[in-house]
Amino acid sequence: MLSQQRDANGDRIKGLREIDPAKAEVVRRIFTLYADGMSPRDIAQLLNKEVVPGARGRKWRDTAIRGHVSRGTGILNNESYIGRMVWNKRNYRKNPETERRTARANDASEWVLTEVPEMRIVSDDLWRRVKERQKEIGELFDFGQSNRLNATHRPGYLLSHLLECAECGGPYAISGKDRYSCTNRKKRLPIDELGGACCSNSKTITRQELESRVLDCLPVAFFSLGIFDTMSAKVIEQETLKLRRPKAEREQMTRELNELERKQKSIIQQISDRAMQGRPPLAALDDTLDQIEFQRVALAREIDAFTTSEPDMRAKIEELKQRHNPAQTELRMRHFFLQARRGKNDDAKRQVMPIVRSLVQKVVIGKTPGHQPATLQVHGLIASILAQMDVLDLMERRFVAEVHADFIEKLEAGEIDTQQKQKKLLDSYEEELRRKYPEWANLQVS
Ligand SMILES: [Zn+2]
Repeated sequence: MLSQQRDANGDRIKGLREIDPAKAEVVRRIFTLYADGMSPRDIAQLLNKEVVPGARGRKWRDTAIRGHVSRGTGILNNESYIGRMVWNKRNYRKNPETERRTARANDASEWVLTEVPEMRIVSDDLWRRVKERQKEIGELFDFGQSNRLNATHRPGYLLSHLLECAECGGPYAISGKDRYSCTNRKKRLPIDELGGACCSNSKTITRQELESRVLDCLPVAFFSLGIFDTMSAKVIEQETLKLRRPKAEREQMTRELNELERKQKSIIQQISDRAMQGRPPLAALDDTLDQIEFQRVALAREIDAFTTSEPDMRAKIEELKQRHNPAQTELRMRHFFLQARRGKNDDAKRQVMPIVRSLVQKVVIGKTPGHQPATLQVHGLIASILAQMDVLDLMERRFVAEVHADFIEKLEAGEIDTQQKQKKLLDSYEEELRRKYPEWANLQVS
């Protein structure tokens, strides 16, 4: 994205590069699109459709955009865009006998960081937004593996894309401040099914309320029916699938690596030929060699992280089975629901996201008068489980049981050592129950 400045002899001036405005614009656009929620894959497709040339005139690939956060590769992780240059990432040694140069990557401890504010093309704010989004989707399913595949197809939140408006059938989506609303209503779209009228469902619901209300009905079903075996099997299956990355993709990357190595050899050969013939060194060759080496190292690392040998795989699957056995799953679920009930714990939610999403097919959100909580209709496997039970009764029983446990816990911790404190706590439980009751009542299953 940055082209190097040269002196009168055509040699590179070390440390000075100039910004290509058109390319800088593309970089900013990529950052903005990604921060606004577009996946690297969709961004690459969009740029290719618009025939925006990628690096060295090639087509855009999502990997070039996404890269690896920890390794600083990929457009979204390139610190030079915020005016931070890394020098000395690699060095070249010339073999005195053959005159050939070989490239070698330096250890990260040898890197030199320089602030070059004039090279900045992305604002700190935009950079921060991108880093937050990376964190948000990167952490979702990251079980210590590089989650290169499918990262872009993963839903952002527990119930993303499963929400439907009861009135017009349109999607409910986040519209500012973590609050879901009917998309058709927001866009004032005329709806055929409503005779060309706009959707009148102006009910909005915070993500927190929606998630906890839907989650609230899950443990009841789980604990009553003992479906931890199924859940455990599902998680193991899903994680195993992630381990077995498609062979085709790995082979494609290996082919690319071979091609890069072939190009590299040819350039090193050209450089050494020129030296042998006593011709002056050509800066452009150096540049290309730099670029290829950078790509090669990044790709080689990616392949490395990507490749799991068969015995390794078996060990990992074994470990997965251990980690996700039914007893562990139940323990984690109990812990999770306790945390989720007590506040916002997105981390806990992410861990059970695959399970929740396999049980909840969709949630239909309907309007209610005034400030009453929206009606939620939960469809899917969970619904058929719950339909067999007296949900409200179970909810209340569970609430009472949890409250009781909480009370004992606080009592033992010496937090409620006076009658007054105890009464205050009991009052707060009652108030919570009063608040929860209409929410439960408004939760239907079908
Ligand atoms: Zn609607």
